[in-house]
Amino acid sequence: MMAEKGILVVVSGFSGAGKGTLMKRLMEKYDNYALSVSATTRAPRPGEEHGREYFFHTKQEFEELILQDALIEYAQYVENYYGTPKAYVEKQLNAGKDVILEIEIQGALKVKKKLPDTLLLFVTPPTAEELKRRLVNRGTETMDVIESRLRRASEEAEGMSEYDYILINDQIEECVDKMHAIIQSQHETVKNRRDFIKEITEEIAVFEKGEEE
Ligand code: 5GP
Repeated sequence: MMAEKGILVVVSGFSGAGKGTLMKRLMEKYDNYALSVSATTRAPRPGEEHGREYFFHTKQEFEELILQDALIEYAQYVENYYGTPKAYVEKQLNAGKDVILEIEIQGALKVKKKLPDTLLLFVTPPTAEELKRRLVNRGTETMDVIESRLRRASEEAEGMSEYDYILINDQIEECVDKMHAIIQSQHETVKNRRDFIKEITEEIAVFEKGEEE
């Protein structure tokens, strides 16, 4: 039997929804996930490393990646480019890994259009008040950037209904387990079980002819 391909999962959510922590816990707690590292033109935050959080590029380098068709999708978000490198995602999916893209909504919708089997998950804090509190407490952005991220959140809220699942991130562990369960359930869908269905159907067809002793 051929090895089953992995599921491509897009995780989006308002800036400050806790996606980063959620992804980190998912990777620590469960095997079989590969987290795609995006390319970006934004400057690294303190503690971020090239190749770990992002591949940090100049605008010119990023535009080169676009020309080379090396990205599955890319989008502009609050004045910077962000994009998903194609090669890593394809390799991991073919190896049977479930690949997670943590990307914003424009990119998410582009991926879904290109690859319709992609699972789209949207993470949100329980309330708008909590969203603002988490962004301010993170302390990594100026108030100006926080304001533009909150405005962007209001635009993104309109796109939530395009997603397959909404995950309310109240208790982190509960949310991680729920996310894992949703992703794993995709392996059981009929479209992802075609090989198994074919195999067992052929085996069962033998009964019709009568089993030989
Ligand atoms: P941050 O600057 O906070 O790391 O990310 C800003 C936004 O860009 C987040 O919503 C994040 O999910 C999104 N993002 C990160 N990588 C990509 C990518 O490769 N493509 C797209 N379209 N969005 C991305």
